[in-house]
Amino acid sequence: MRKNLVAGNWKMNMTLQDGLALVSEITNMVQDEVTGSAVEVVICPPFPFLASIGKQLPAGSRFHLGAQNCHQKESGAFTGEVSAKMLQSVGAEYVILGHSERRQYFREDDQLLSEKLKAALAAGLKPIFCVGETLETREADETFNYISKQLKDGLFHLSNEEFDQVVIAYEPIWAIGTGKTATSAQAQEVHAFIREQIARAYDAEAALNTSILYGGSANAQNARELFSQPDVDGGLIGGAALKSRDFTEIIKSF
Ligand code: PGA
Repeated sequence: MRKNLVAGNWKMNMTLQDGLALVSEITNMVQDEVTGSAVEVVICPPFPFLASIGKQLPAGSRFHLGAQNCHQKESGAFTGEVSAKMLQSVGAEYVILGHSERRQYFREDDQLLSEKLKAALAAGLKPIFCVGETLETREADETFNYISKQLKDGLFHLSNEEFDQVVIAYEPIWAIGTGKTATSAQAQEVHAFIREQIARAYDAEAALNTSILYGGSANAQNARELFSQPDVDGGLIGGAALKSRDFTEIIKSF
């Protein structure tokens, strides 16, 4: 079901102690400041912190736990890997899949991501599926073709019921960690395009019901403008998710 959502992607940052302190600051500030506003918050710390951070999130609140990746197999001899079922067993409800850093540094392609999506859904996790173009692609005026292919090859093989569980994040690669945010008009244009593609692949209802987040240098200053766009339902936040004041401001930006 479509909702306003802010997800904090900590990437490979923080220690457990820093993370616990950060979460306690955020939950306190948010409780004080945005009680009543309808926004869901997903905290996505590194694997080793998940169980402890999850315990610190107030039960039954707007706060939920998410992971940053999962393996495509349910279990077995895959040294160093973490399955979706394991994530679910420590309290994760969401998992980020297809982040551009995973696509780029770990060679995750659409085929692998399809398998990871299936595994996440089978374990009862809600995938936050990322798409987004490079600067080259944008400058060549190929953004729509590129995003449409990522959606078709990576995501649209899911059944209607499976797709219902998915959140999409549009993250232009040139905006991630660069301080160069997409303008709200650029974000809106791609978000509307994504919604149109969903309507084609599934139906109008599915398109209306999907939450589509923007990611890429979103911060306390630009979140309100981005979130005010009709097809932007929230944000996937990297750098600014590591600072309690900034992240809280973003949560308050609806
Ligand atoms: P950023 O990262 O907010 O630091 O640009 C966003 C992301 O990669 O999810």
